[in-house]
Amino acid sequence: NLNKIGFIGLGNMGRPMAENVLAKGHNLVVYDVQQEAVDSLRELGATVSQSPQDVAAQVDCIITMLPNNACVLEVYEGENGILKSGKKGSLLIDSSTVDPHVSKTVAAIAEAQGHVFVDAPVSGGVNAARLSQLTFMVGGPSEVFPAVQDLLFTMGARVVHCGPVGSGQAVKICNNMLLGISMIGTSEAMNLGIRLGIDPKVLLTIINSSSGRCWSSEVYCPVPGAMDNVPSSNDYKGGFQTKLMAKDLGLANDAATRTATPTPLGSLAYQLYSNMVNSGFADKDFSSVYQFFLRRGSM
Ligand code: NAD
Repeated sequence: NLNKIGFIGLGNMGRPMAENVLAKGHNLVVYDVQQEAVDSLRELGATVSQSPQDVAAQVDCIITMLPNNACVLEVYEGENGILKSGKKGSLLIDSSTVDPHVSKTVAAIAEAQGHVFVDAPVSGGVNAARLSQLTFMVGGPSEVFPAVQDLLFTMGARVVHCGPVGSGQAVKICNNMLLGISMIGTSEAMNLGIRLGIDPKVLLTIINSSSGRCWSSEVYCPVPGAMDNVPSSNDYKGGFQTKLMAKDLGLANDAATRTATPTPLGSLAYQLYSNMVNSGFADKDFSSVYQFFLRRGSM
């Protein structure tokens, strides 16, 4: 019964996502450790529950949107966790960005109890969440994908089946690792060109019609004033916070260590964004790596 949905984790992303599920006509049972996080949903008609276990007892399908590995393990396997409800046959969808290994661990326990667990991390930030424009990367059994897709389309514009459980997380962290690296590269090249006396707009035009082109140069230029409607032209406000990029690179780094995969640039990028987090850049958009280089003088 997908008419009644559970939603756990109502933060910056989870709250607008849950509001969209509600707006599409589903009944919602919600839970968050912070009382104030559930208030707006209660006002919109959601039932507020007292624990993940309590949510699980009331619904056949649950979506979770939590900050990190530890919170996901707590909500699923903890003392009052979803998997303590004694129920069977639920569809459990985790949209948090976590280690693929965590998704596989939770899936194995869920499966042993007769549930189906899928990972479905998202790309797109808070605005995309508000506008139901998220992209979901889904890892899980093909048989359940149609049902998962139907539900996720209430919150997103694209839903892609990436493979077995853990695959959604794997795709997400590989993409974000490349994004983190390419943003640093774009910032380095732009900074060098500007110090060599080149007009940033001229340099950008050449890069974007040449082989150095990438998403960071084409649609998200890190140099203030070189492009309209991007965080760099708005004091690096909005966008994708440096602390979240550092978190995703940490996940990529862990996965690389576990699989003995050489990711030297991913590792450097992780160091650099972590350094920024500790230098006052945590809440700025990650393209502020350009500004970080400026402050460092000639790095
Ligand atoms: P957030 O910190 O704003 O929200 C997380 C919510 O989970 C909070 O309300 C918190 O109280 C709740 N929570 C924590 N532990 C809990 C527990 N044990 N039980 C119940 N609730 C608990 O985080 P967010 O920005 O909404 O991000 C959620 C996930 O989505 C993260 O994994 C993040 O990496 C990913 N993500 C975020 C963005 C973004 O732009 N914010 C974009 C893509 C993906």
